[in-house]
Amino acid sequence: MGFWDGSRWLWSLEWKRVLRPHDLAEQGRLLSLLDSVAPDPQCTNKFIWAPDKNDKFSVKSLTGLLDSSSAVVPSEIFKNIWKGLVPHRVEIFIWFALLGKLNTRGKLSRLSIIPPYEASCVFCRDHIEFEDHLFIHCDFARGVWNWWLSIWGLRWVLPISLKDLFSQWHCVSSDYLFKKIWRASFFIIVWALWKERNARIFRNLSCSPQQIHDLILLRLCWWIRGWKDPFPYSCNEVLQKPLCLKGISLARTKPPTINALNVSWSPPSHLSLKWNTDASYDPLCNLSAIGGVLRNNMGNFICLFSSPIPPLEINSVEVYAIYRVIKITLSSPEISSHHIIFESDSANAVRWCNDKAGGPWNLNFMLNFIRHAISSQLNAQVIHKGRSSNAVADSLAKQGLRRENEFIAWL
Ligand SMILES: [Zn+2]
Repeated sequence: MGFWDGSRWLWSLEWKRVLRPHDLAEQGRLLSLLDSVAPDPQCTNKFIWAPDKNDKFSVKSLTGLLDSSSAVVPSEIFKNIWKGLVPHRVEIFIWFALLGKLNTRGKLSRLSIIPPYEASCVFCRDHIEFEDHLFIHCDFARGVWNWWLSIWGLRWVLPISLKDLFSQWHCVSSDYLFKKIWRASFFIIVWALWKERNARIFRNLSCSPQQIHDLILLRLCWWIRGWKDPFPYSCNEVLQKPLCLKGISLARTKPPTINALNVSWSPPSHLSLKWNTDASYDPLCNLSAIGGVLRNNMGNFICLFSSPIPPLEINSVEVYAIYRVIKITLSSPEISSHHIIFESDSANAVRWCNDKAGGPWNLNFMLNFIRHAISSQLNAQVIHKGRSSNAVADSLAKQGLRRENEFIAWL
């Protein structure tokens, strides 16, 4: 720690690891601060916490210290984070993002954790990845913000920093619910960009801008349900006509159909996961599509998929949906190690999957694959439950009718 050299105290600091260039600059600042400080040889040493008047540490005094520091976000901005509009983990994520505390590639490179040539933005590869670039200035991010603004007929030159964007993210609508939607959209867009960035870096997967737009609207619909406000539109309606979000005040007398449908979904037990699958058929266009959602026992979404498929008879399409989610499950060791429930609203499809043999001859390949996966590869069961428990999967299947390619999102 230090020693007396005659009448002068010299600090001698030891570190557990070799200091990086960035750490050496910090050490220099620390030593210059300590330079004017020396222990009093007449006093007994003791620890004190100066920000508290009783010299004892408290979280409140630390919060006050951080709030008063010019290096952090002004405290009034924080008040708009903790509104309960989005899951708590997303609020915490935004808090870190506003503080500049995310482990962006630029930051990791500056700390010498990754080499400089890996520090570039995964979207454009043209700039170093820091929060303000990743979430605002990158062409990819700006395209997402402009898409959202264009829905409402707005054009806006985005501010220079994420903190400024957050503090300026207000809407002038007098509609109470739309104000909440607008505020939530900031969280959802930034979260969607971060999830897409992680998918590209860690899973080598990417969504098109159109898929990201859809995912933002889907998350918005699902999270609105958590607010307990009457909300008369289905996810499908919002996807097709996002402007209906602004017309909510005109339609609030309608029954809250989504809430009613969602009530009957039952979570799996602890450590289990549940897939809900569904199929959709459009006789006018002769199109079929399937959709599914994987949730944990807290009801959190883990994976979503929505896919157009060749036109098939409805029971066959339901089997196709189960077949597809089993393939998705097997592709992820992280997921397939859980006990999994596959829940379908087709009694026939469930019966065929659980029978040791039989079923329509043209489904033999898929049914054999499903039977083998359930008996040998997975700890799983296929069960039947009515359509009312399947609102999200039903919506994803309907969206598949207007897609050209399969859409899968890991959340
Ligand atoms: Zn970029």
